[in-house]
Amino acid sequence: MVDPAHARVLLVGAGGLGSPAALQLAAAGVGTLALADPDAVDLSNLQRQVLHRTRDVGRPKVESARDRLAALAPAARIDARPIRLAAADAAQAFAGFDVVIDGSDNFATKYALNAASLASGVPWIFGGILRFAGQLMTVLPRRSACYRCLFRDPPPPGCVASCAEAGVLGAVAGVIGSLQALEALKLLRGAPALATDRLLLYDALAGTLRTLRVRRSPECPDCGRFS
Ligand SMILES: [Zn+2]
Repeated sequence: MVDPAHARVLLVGAGGLGSPAALQLAAAGVGTLALADPDAVDLSNLQRQVLHRTRDVGRPKVESARDRLAALAPAARIDARPIRLAAADAAQAFAGFDVVIDGSDNFATKYALNAASLASGVPWIFGGILRFAGQLMTVLPRRSACYRCLFRDPPPPGCVASCAEAGVLGAVAGVIGSLQALEALKLLRGAPALATDRLLLYDALAGTLRTLRVRRSPECPDCGRFS
């Protein structure tokens, strides 16, 4: 169990998912929040990226995020990293953190986060959003089903549309990002019933939250060798 005031959380992405997650974690009193994002604030993203304001357009997202989070939680340590986490150094970047929150918008980063989690032993909380739907799963490396137990191989390039191409309802990002923050807080406090070995599927149009059982696979290319 980790006291949130002494907890260290890494958020990969300060966009649609990272925004609500970071705000909730800062408001909850998490001591250290690191944010990694190479992009600048864009006006077209502000419907879901609620960390940033219209006057921040053009600024690095991590700087805008740092200012907003510091205003909300002055005691928190905000570590702004204007970088894209590369697969080669992701495991190193995980070191020293209690949990990592996935706010990335591409499959390559999600597979890199999964591998880094298994290499470092640091849990991560996967999140995905598109149009009116969202999904989430918490991965306790070497203990629960991992992202590749669920999605063995990345989809072919161009097969799945991105948020930039297909759009996403901003409030859906708010739901999933807040659920990721909730999972992180539960994990830090040692609470039972995390979203492990199951995928949470939120359908905003149908108004449903479903659970899909996920089994840890002995043939998983990432975690199978730790069985
Ligand atoms: Zn696996």
